[in-house]
Amino acid sequence: MMLRALFAVWLLITPKFSQDPPPEQPTNIILVIGDGMGLAQIALAEYLTKPPSPLAQMEVVGLQKTHSINNLETDSAAAGTAMSCGVKTFNAGVGVGPDSIAVKSIMELARAKGMKTGFVVTSSVVHATPACFYAHSQSRATYEIIASQLVNSGMDLFVGGGAKYFKDRYSDGIDLLKVLEQKNYSILTSDGLNIQSDLASIPLQNKIACFTAFEDPLRATQGRTYLPEISVKAIDALEKRADKGYMLMIEASQIDWADHANDQEWLALEMQDAYSMLDVVLKKVKEDDNTLLIVTADHECSYMSLKGKRSPRVEFNTKVHSSQMVPVFATGPGAEEFLGVYENTAIFEKMKMLLGL
Ligand code: MG
Ligand code: ZN
Repeated sequence: MMLRALFAVWLLITPKFSQDPPPEQPTNIILVIGDGMGLAQIALAEYLTKPPSPLAQMEVVGLQKTHSINNLETDSAAAGTAMSCGVKTFNAGVGVGPDSIAVKSIMELARAKGMKTGFVVTSSVVHATPACFYAHSQSRATYEIIASQLVNSGMDLFVGGGAKYFKDRYSDGIDLLKVLEQKNYSILTSDGLNIQSDLASIPLQNKIACFTAFEDPLRATQGRTYLPEISVKAIDALEKRADKGYMLMIEASQIDWADHANDQEWLALEMQDAYSMLDVVLKKVKEDDNTLLIVTADHECSYMSLKGKRSPRVEFNTKVHSSQMVPVFATGPGAEEFLGVYENTAIFEKMKMLLGL
C-alpha cells in the first residue's frame, strides 16, 4: 500500500520528459495526389529524370493502406473520400460514409474557418478524386450533379477539364458557366496544351475557374504540359487571396489512366509531368516556412514492376487497381506527423489536426 502511494506521488512530481512537443502547425497545406502512383511508378520516374529528385528532398516518408470499406482494391472515389473526409466508404462513393450520408471534407472545414481552397487536376474537374473534396454523391458517375455541387461549393479556384458538364447539360439544360459568372468567378479556357492566362491579373475579389478541355484533358503524349506552371500560378493566386491560409489539392490524374491502358510511353510522360510539377511546387514551398507539402497516391494500379538492365522496362501485371500500400512524402511544418504506417483516413485526421479544424 505504502509503495503504491509512493509510486503515485512519484508519477505526479516527475516531469513528463517522454511527451513529444506539440507539432509545428502549417498555415497552408498543399496535397499532391498521383492517381495510381505506386512505388514502381515512382521508381520509373526516378530512373527517367535527372537528379535531384523532388521526392528525395522531402523530409519524411510514410506508408498508407488504401483499401475501401469492403474491397482491398479501392477505387479513386473511396480512396479520395478516405483522404478528404476521413471515412472508409464503398467503391464509387464520393464524400459519403458507408450509409451514403454526406461527410464534411477537409476543404469544407477549412472554408468554414475562413481558409481559401482550390484544386488543379489533369482529369475533368468533376472526376472522382477532385470531387471528393467538394461533392457528396453515392456514385462518382453522377457528373452533372457533381458539377452543380462544385458551382455551389465556394471553391476559390479550380483547374481541369470537363466544361461540358457545365455547358451542355442533359439533366436540366442550365448553363452553369453563367451561374459561375454570377457567383463572381473569372472563367478561363485553354487550348488544352498550356494555359496562357495570367491568373495574377484577375481581381482579388474574384474566384477562378479554368477549363482545360471540354471533355477530358489531353494526354501528356498529346503535348499537354499545363500542370507544372498552373500549379505554381494557383499557389500564388491562393496565397494572395488568403489571410487565414489555404489548402490546395493538385492531382496528376492520368498516371492511373496510363496504368489501366498498360501503356509504358504514356505512363513515363505522365510521371515526368508529375515530377516537373513537384520540382516547381517544392521550390515554391521552400520559399516560406508556413506551408506543408504532402505527396501521395490514392492507390497503386496494374501491380506494376520494373525490369530491364540499362533502361527501365515496365511490366504491367493487371489492368486494375491493386491493394498495395502507397508512400506518403511530407515536408514543411507538421511533416513528421506523416511518419509510420497508417490507414488512408489518417491523412484527413492529420491535416485536420495540423490546421486546427
Ligand atoms: Mg483521379
Ligand atoms: Zn483507376
